[in-house]
Amino acid sequence: MNLDSRWSERLAALEERGLRRNLQALEMCGPTQARIGNQDVHVFSSNDYLGLAFHPDVQAAWASGGSGSSRLIAGTRPAHLELELALEEHFGRPALVFSSGYQANLAVLSTLLDAKTCVGSDRLNHASLIDGLRLSACSVDILDHGQASGDVDVHVVESLYSMDGDSPDLTIYSEKPLIVDEAHAVGCVGPKGCGVAASQNVVPDILVGTFGKAYGAAGAFVLCSETAKALLVSMGRSFVYSTALADGAARAALIGLRLADDARREALVNNTNRFRSGIARLGLKTTGSAHIVPVVLGADTMSAANALLDEGFFVPGIRFPTVESGQERLRFSLSSAHSFKQIDAALEALARCCR
Ligand code: PMP
Repeated sequence: MNLDSRWSERLAALEERGLRRNLQALEMCGPTQARIGNQDVHVFSSNDYLGLAFHPDVQAAWASGGSGSSRLIAGTRPAHLELELALEEHFGRPALVFSSGYQANLAVLSTLLDAKTCVGSDRLNHASLIDGLRLSACSVDILDHGQASGDVDVHVVESLYSMDGDSPDLTIYSEKPLIVDEAHAVGCVGPKGCGVAASQNVVPDILVGTFGKAYGAAGAFVLCSETAKALLVSMGRSFVYSTALADGAARAALIGLRLADDARREALVNNTNRFRSGIARLGLKTTGSAHIVPVVLGADTMSAANALLDEGFFVPGIRFPTVESGQERLRFSLSSAHSFKQIDAALEALARCCR
């Protein structure tokens, strides 16, 4: 058996369907500006929603480096405990820090849901939620987007869908326990940036947030009861068997959490409103009302993304399996750090590229 020739065949099949992915290095020159090779581009596709990844204090915090082992062995640093305490003060409930949102979702779903549990999972849930449910012993009902079910024991949803920019009414899930992934909302939405659930006065049983997006660092956190936290520490395989969040990243996250303020959130709302009004003026189809703004172009998506790149705007096309075939889209993400000038120029370029 020649493995490499099998892999070549699979790669060729992807290529034929236009689904082969390639990595593109962006040398960031500011929160929303980068160099790709010899080209200067405006970046409209990062999740650095509050422009904090480029903040000098956040960047300086990274200097302390890695953590060397799992949290349960020699990897817990004072910064992890300080971060968990700061989260508890900010969000009002116990918190456990993870190396990434992907790992947090795997641990939550595979550890806390047992074979007796039937889960209602939104059709548009992120891959990390889907994979966490695959690893869990629970049974799963896939629910129509934004719908609740009387037949399930627990709902698992996102509070701000990463490819659609919409937020569900979380109160419809109030009859049953609720697990909410607020990866794209924490820092940006709700009182003190505590998320969509907080803005709707909903207290989910479990809330997952990330540090790699609005907080400008890396890693993630789970807010839950002390009991659930203790179970995750002992049995969450992606927590127990993975190197702890780098010490530098934990310090950067702590600073990002403190720097994410109302002024940045207001600037993000103003930029979002300006961009969304422009999209409406252009007559382009979008969904939601948040700082993630999809423009669904179907089969024309990749050529529009390439044309935008030629004009100096980096907005990669989103394809299957991230979205369904026929729903391919440009996914614009706004940052508080974008200027109105950049936003207006992006809209003008988009008008030319979608003609
Ligand atoms: N949840 C959602 C909704 C996401 O969009 C992502 C990543 N984009 C994650 C979880 C995973 O977070 P991380 O990047 O920290 O692994």
